[in-house]
Amino acid sequence: MDSAFIPAAKPLIGDEEVAAVERVLRSGMLAQGPEVAAFEAEFAEQFLQGRTAVAVNSGTSGQLLGLIASGVGAGDEVIVPSFTFAAVANSVVLAGATPVFVDIEPVHFTLDPARVHEAITPRTKGIMPVHLYGHPFLVDEIEAVAAEHGLAIYEDAAQAHGAAWRGRPAGTIGAFGMFSLYPTKNMTAIEGGIVACADEDMARTMRLLRNQGMETQYANEIVGYNNRMSEVHAAVGRVQLRKVGEWTRQRQRNAALLDEALAGIDGLTIPRVADGAEHVYHQYTVRIAGGERDRVRDALRDEHAVGAGVYYPIPNHRLPSLQRYAPGEDLPETERAAQEVLSIPVHPSLTREDLDRVVSGLEVVMSAGG
Ligand SMILES: *Cc1c(COP(=O)(O)O)cnc(C)c1O
Repeated sequence: MDSAFIPAAKPLIGDEEVAAVERVLRSGMLAQGPEVAAFEAEFAEQFLQGRTAVAVNSGTSGQLLGLIASGVGAGDEVIVPSFTFAAVANSVVLAGATPVFVDIEPVHFTLDPARVHEAITPRTKGIMPVHLYGHPFLVDEIEAVAAEHGLAIYEDAAQAHGAAWRGRPAGTIGAFGMFSLYPTKNMTAIEGGIVACADEDMARTMRLLRNQGMETQYANEIVGYNNRMSEVHAAVGRVQLRKVGEWTRQRQRNAALLDEALAGIDGLTIPRVADGAEHVYHQYTVRIAGGERDRVRDALRDEHAVGAGVYYPIPNHRLPSLQRYAPGEDLPETERAAQEVLSIPVHPSLTREDLDRVVSGLEVVMSAGG
């Protein structure tokens, strides 16, 4: 390989993040304090149209606190996709409830509203759809099913900072919306999460739950966790917040370039954007049919130094940790997606030369297929 490897994802950390960390470390104020409060206010201002943001130490923690604050617990069922990261179902199990795995639609790989309808039982408390790869789930149809049955929507916006559906930002659609700030996401706080909600009582409950049930020191009102965000993490998040808008536009420009270059390749389906959807391209995910996906991924890596990722190779309901919740019937679109998806680099640090190499690599590898 004569050119540098192009990774599938790359966190962008600049001098401003380094300076922010140093400033906070030298201030002596390290645990949750004014940086966290400022980060919450700025995140809400930028992404949440007036909703409240509660910062926690990971997206998964945020999902768990959101579920508990929504009253989800033992005996309840929550409908989730199986084709996603295991944190989604994990948070349901950790809240004491039962995840009910439902198939996805084949176009955007998000929860299929028709299948959701069929999975509802008297124990169903809510639906937790995912804005997968940065593309919104089918909000209108999921909302219609939820309204018909009186169910809540718990929004997984882990990959969707800045995404929107008909002008409604991701994170403002459900009873709560969770964002992840893990290093591979569209912006990072190293580790961290934000839970957004419109209900002030719910926000207060989540603030209690993240801090041992305390609002006033040593006056613990409820039993809670330690899921606080540190000042250092918040300071990094505040810097990233100022940059993520431009990064998203760069992701979208990269995606447009890839769309144009890849549209004509046989056996490869480029991502499609739903009418009314703002896609923030956490991943640029193509479908490669005919059992060729793994060969294409390996050849891109070995022959063209291009990192491409499979998100996600094993449906959640077949993981050792979650298989006890496997549904009685097959989830055919979930299985097919796990075999066919390939996410190719789209992140904002790609140069024009990198993108050309991704495209030419894919052209060569695809034409060498059987
Ligand atoms: C990253 C991610 C999470 C979990 O976020 P963490 O910050 O890693 O805990 C949950 N759901 C989805 C879809 C994710 O991609």
